[in-house]
Amino acid sequence: MITTETFVQKPNNLVFSNPSYLGHEQVVFCQDEETGLKAIIGIHSTVLGPALGGTRMWNYENEYDALVDVLRLSRGMSFKASISGLDLGGGKAVIIGDARKHKTDALMRRFGAFVESLSGRYITAEDVGVNTHDMEMVKMETNHVTGIPESMGGAGDPSPVTAYGVFMGIKASAKYKWGTDDLGGKKVLVQGVGHVGETLVKYLSESGANVFVNDIYEDVLENVAKKYNATIVKDNVYELEMDIYAPCALGATVNDDTIEKFNCSIIAGAANNQLADENAHGLRLKERGIIYAPDFLINAGGLINVNSEIIKISRDEVFKRTENIYDTTLSILNHATKNNITSHQAALEIAQKRIDETRKNKK
Ligand code: NAD
Repeated sequence: MITTETFVQKPNNLVFSNPSYLGHEQVVFCQDEETGLKAIIGIHSTVLGPALGGTRMWNYENEYDALVDVLRLSRGMSFKASISGLDLGGGKAVIIGDARKHKTDALMRRFGAFVESLSGRYITAEDVGVNTHDMEMVKMETNHVTGIPESMGGAGDPSPVTAYGVFMGIKASAKYKWGTDDLGGKKVLVQGVGHVGETLVKYLSESGANVFVNDIYEDVLENVAKKYNATIVKDNVYELEMDIYAPCALGATVNDDTIEKFNCSIIAGAANNQLADENAHGLRLKERGIIYAPDFLINAGGLINVNSEIIKISRDEVFKRTENIYDTTLSILNHATKNNITSHQAALEIAQKRIDETRKNKK
């Protein structure tokens, strides 16, 4: 039986004092018994504009993990929009459940109704476990949605653009490390070969890289490996001797357990929040001489694409703007070296500065 006592004994730092809650404006819990929907929407900042960020559907081990994930993700979106020069704030949503088993059109529509209730403070899109069809369902309930199919007047799946931006980030990191961005013969491990990962594998194999792939789903893994002649890796992923590790699954794969195992020169991938602890792990990578391309900088292609639905720019223009990730990555890496700070810190400082200045000018 749950008593008042039970609640009193619970930790009192679950929400506002949670380190991941840092700076958040609003967090919304959404529940619908009929469809089984359990979702959390995190709005980190609306200083630069409405908070835009995708919806992730994942079978979290517990609700606390889902909360921490959405908070970390929405904060990252604020920095991603800022460093990319977009007039957008940072937000994100998570739906608790296995997308392969629990996702239904009715559930996505109900989620859309919750997005609508926020009157445009939060605009959604796709993320892990969620696709353009789901956004079509959301669109039936709200106009505050992007990443809808091109046939419906949207900019379509953002993932290919994200992959292109990540490829630019990888090439810029290579240029910084080896003085050339030629990836011919470089060993690259792509971990997570879903929407973004698969297209990244395509770009990498076209550039002559020696591509290794890893995923938790056997069918996905076999299919991508066969299509692009990539080598499957199942065990000891982090110890693998490689030139570049490209995390394209979930976040926090650079953590206390993995950080000393890495046997690579560059970490650059699509996953959000790759550093479990952005300060400690960013610093350790720097000490170990491993180049880290800040995730929120190099995976911004998808956001640039969904934003094109708002500011009405062509797909060609989207790719052109995404290509700029190459120059920005190089300049961030140089800036970090010059100032003896981590690349993550360098990117964060620039992103935070734009947010702070805009906030000041609004007053
Ligand atoms: P997705 O769901 O299509 O693909 C993710 C893949 O990772 C799946 O195939 C899944 O099986 C695999 N995976 C999950 N856990 C794994 C693990 N522990 N080890 C190995 N593989 C694992 O998602 P996506 O849209 O390709 O996004 C990938 C990452 O990039 C996510 O972190 C997402 O937040 C980020 N991202 C995506 C976009 C976008 O445009 N889709 C934009 C920016 C950032």
